Amino acid sequence: MAVPKRKMSRSNTRARRSQWKTTATTLMTCPQCKADKQPHIACPSCGAYNNRRYAEAVRTEHEAR
Ligand SMILES: [Zn+2]
Repeated sequence: MAVPKRKMSRSNTRARRSQWKTTATTLMTCPQCKADKQPHIACPSCGAYNNRRYAEAVRTEHEAR
């Protein structure tokens, strides 16, 4: 595997990183409850996906019960 011959300058590193940008999350409307949801993911508010309901989708491990 090719390895860089020299350490990249701090200036070059920072110039490259200055081009990093964030993009807004794509949202769609849930057909069941009309809430905003991400595509290809079960709806976080009602748990619906592909005309089925996944109750587990609403509860995740980091949410205390
Ligand atoms: Zn929903």
